[in-house]
Amino acid sequence: MIEENVQNLFKEVPEYNSYGENVIVVAAVKTRSVADINSAIAAGIKYIGDNHVQEFRDKYPFIEGNPQRHFIGRLQTNKIKYLLGKCDLYHSLDRFPLAEALSEKSASRGLVSEALIEINAGGEESKGGFSFEETEEAVGRICALPALRISGIMAMLPQSDDVNYLKELALRVRETYDGLKKTYGDFRYLSMGMSGDWKLCVECGSNMIRIGTAIFGERIYPQK
Ligand SMILES: *Cc1c(COP(=O)(O)O)cnc(C)c1O
Repeated sequence: MIEENVQNLFKEVPEYNSYGENVIVVAAVKTRSVADINSAIAAGIKYIGDNHVQEFRDKYPFIEGNPQRHFIGRLQTNKIKYLLGKCDLYHSLDRFPLAEALSEKSASRGLVSEALIEINAGGEESKGGFSFEETEEAVGRICALPALRISGIMAMLPQSDDVNYLKELALRVRETYDGLKKTYGDFRYLSMGMSGDWKLCVECGSNMIRIGTAIFGERIYPQK
């Protein structure tokens, strides 16, 4: 099942890839078992993304095949220490104090951490990230921090059935990314798209998608 889903995904992505860039598929592994994650890796997944620091730590030693490890969730400053040196890409720098703390803690360990800056494309209260208007200044300030390597932008589109609205937002994210790419030579990733909207996102210029449900099936959250 997982293997088939991964293969279908790898087959489908090129059909929507109008920008012709290499599109990276990050398996979003929150709540998934080590066995399921390793099945996805065996099927060809080379990047896995966690949301929860605890899960990242618990599963870290049991993941096979040496995939890149990304952190895609909202990160609390006091948990950075558990990811340092183990996380290959932090997707979601959604506020300046987090970027500052990541830089400081990375520097104290002699590391440079690679990260993306999050844009809150739909202006949603419930989501982190900078507004379109704030992004340029935020990128400037964050890129000036010494122990970070900022390699692009991450965005989550809102829930909506209005495809035209979503396309408009996705294209605006891509345009923002293209503008910043001219100034910041390390920019190469635009992380945008989940199971429900990745096709639209890849059509609009995303080159990194974060896929959970379409690989592993519906998520079942443990009873609280
Ligand atoms: C869970 C999650 C995803 C994947 O969601 P699906 O709809 O299951 O594909 C992608 N990005 C982030 C930040 C997530 O938390």
